[in-house]
Amino acid sequence: MTTDRSLPPGLHRDTLAVRTALERSQYGENSEALFLTSSFVQPDAETSARRFAGTEEGFTYTRTSNPTVASFEQRLAALEGTEAAIGASSGMGAILMMCMGLLRAGDHVVCSRSVFGSTLNLIGREFGKFGVETTFVSQTDVAEWKAAIRPTTKLLFAETPTNPLTDVCDIRALADLAHGAGALLAVDNCFCSPALQRPTELGADLVIHSGTKYLEGQGRVLAGAICGSAKLVNEVFGPVVRTAGMALSPFNAWVVLKGLETLGIRMQAHCAGALALAQWLETQPSIARVYYPGLASHPQHELAMRQQSGLGGAVVSFDVQGDGPEAARANAFHVIDSTRVLSITANLGDTKTTITHPATTSHGRLTEAQRQAAGIGQGLIRVAVGLDHIDDIKADLLRGLSTLA
Ligand SMILES: *Cc1c(COP(=O)(O)O)cnc(C)c1O
Repeated sequence: MTTDRSLPPGLHRDTLAVRTALERSQYGENSEALFLTSSFVQPDAETSARRFAGTEEGFTYTRTSNPTVASFEQRLAALEGTEAAIGASSGMGAILMMCMGLLRAGDHVVCSRSVFGSTLNLIGREFGKFGVETTFVSQTDVAEWKAAIRPTTKLLFAETPTNPLTDVCDIRALADLAHGAGALLAVDNCFCSPALQRPTELGADLVIHSGTKYLEGQGRVLAGAICGSAKLVNEVFGPVVRTAGMALSPFNAWVVLKGLETLGIRMQAHCAGALALAQWLETQPSIARVYYPGLASHPQHELAMRQQSGLGGAVVSFDVQGDGPEAARANAFHVIDSTRVLSITANLGDTKTTITHPATTSHGRLTEAQRQAAGIGQGLIRVAVGLDHIDDIKADLLRGLSTLA
């Protein structure tokens, strides 16, 4: 008797997260195998020729494709609800692959000015060298995006919520704008992950991931991916990664593949902790303002709740009081340096809660005027809530907050 063991249609996202992968090998492993190999032995020269010509499926070399990487790509695409995905060496590798695939000299990009710092530099500065022009616009004002569009606009690029102020943009409105102009909308979905937000369901064409963060979930490896149509992935991005080599390592792909299995429950726990922390921070007298999309006080609270499955994400930022920038910075440093549990690091998406001072780390290279325009004050602290117990996180912050001068 032969039974059909292929996955039936209509499975829930939680099931897809633990099941979607290439077929098991002949050994019947229940946990997906790690194919840590740079090349693949061919059965004979004829088959090898067909596989290299692309007329027959089969693995040849890991820069082109690898079974572990393919399992990661299939699983991530299933979670994002896209036809396909393609792995990259890091989140920045994915953005580089996207730009190399879509843009040429003379093309124009419209990009939120609140995106990840390296993204700003890659699109604005590096691609500027090759004749790609970029207009940076407000994260939240759709009219500014609209006014920036030119006949040569090929791409709109957004990230939501942003780091560290958690500003939320309207994905549906930006998708409509892009499509009206014959351009594509790409969304960096790093902060929410597909457990909360699926940009293509709201009209986006491409989803960018830093797999380094929540997808992986334990702060161990770098990874990245682009999710989108099979046509773009196979015909536009595949050739770029094969030629330019920003390929995802099979080892890293395997770590993230296994991370995706717990993404849903981790994100629920991260978000519950972050909301509890944000609500508690709002009651602290030494705190001037809390930034968290799950709070009713957040300017895009309703939009965020609609776009993000009713959850605010895991990143909470807050301004400590201070009489002028010097005092605010001293107070922020006091709070950070008084922690004994939280990790002082700019990373996020880890089980370990992290704390950082954006004005002197992620946004340290901006001028004071640029920082003020971006709303990144010297008193600002960002906490990326991990899986530490919420009471321990509060106590760790209270040690500094309760002893401010
Ligand atoms: C970290 C991050 C990136 C870059 O990802 P890497 O894996 O570090 O290259 C891109 N976008 C956002 C929003 C990020 O937080």
